[in-house]
Amino acid sequence: MKTIKEFTLPADADARRAVAPVICYPVDTLAQPDLDAYRVARQGMALVSEVLVPPREARTVRINAGQFFRIVSIEGPQVGDLNLHNANDLSERFYSGKTRALHGTHLSTGDRLWSSFPNMRPMATITADTLDWYGFDAFGGGVHDVIGTRCDPYTNNLLSGGQYHRCCHSNLSRALAEHTGQTPAEAEHMVHDVLNVFMCTGFTRDTHQYFMKASPVRPDDYLEFYAEIDLLANLSACPGGDCSAQHSSDAAACYPLKIEVFDAPPVAGWQAPAPNGYDRSHGL
Ligand SMILES: [Zn+2]
Repeated sequence: MKTIKEFTLPADADARRAVAPVICYPVDTLAQPDLDAYRVARQGMALVSEVLVPPREARTVRINAGQFFRIVSIEGPQVGDLNLHNANDLSERFYSGKTRALHGTHLSTGDRLWSSFPNMRPMATITADTLDWYGFDAFGGGVHDVIGTRCDPYTNNLLSGGQYHRCCHSNLSRALAEHTGQTPAEAEHMVHDVLNVFMCTGFTRDTHQYFMKASPVRPDDYLEFYAEIDLLANLSACPGGDCSAQHSSDAAACYPLKIEVFDAPPVAGWQAPAPNGYDRSHGL
């Protein structure tokens, strides 16, 4: 946490610190989604299915390319941990870290959820976010982050020593195992870092530690996506509830979440995202 300082301050320390930053991955060359075309299509969308995700549980939902889907808050403020897989090849999965590198720490309308190497293509595009008004608060907090991982029983064991089984990692593992016919211990290898839907997070100003605070989400809020490829979405209703105090326990008030899937007219000009163009020869 950079609290130990054992070495002498160089004479030009201020000058070195004053160097202006540059964006690691400028996105000027990235093809931007045609949001107007998505907006026209979503005006004609029709609900075809909905799935309830009980508190401290996860559920998987198949979503076809070209469908819209929403994660909806119902009953009370609740955070959801979302995994995405290519429904036809579960090894292609959401790449939280690369999505963060391209779109920043917190996502909203117009951002895309990118898949793992070697395909590295948009799996879903965010088409509506009823919490887009939140922006960043005075603490530097925002909603829908791609900086956290997912609450898990291993970190909990490391820090608290207990055996807690309702962490998002275990919830996602059980739900994925039910889909694949594997055991949760087998399926957990495919569980990956998440999009923290509705969670309000940031880094503290002094130590830059990951923080959470009560989610501003309220019933009927939703985050809406367009499926760019056939998806298996796996959503956990986090045991942290609104994540105002703690997770990895049954202490927090928890509420269900709802996944809604919609058919829609075709998005004008839309093309299925091709796998990444790198030739994979890796210099040989
Ligand atoms: Zn969680």
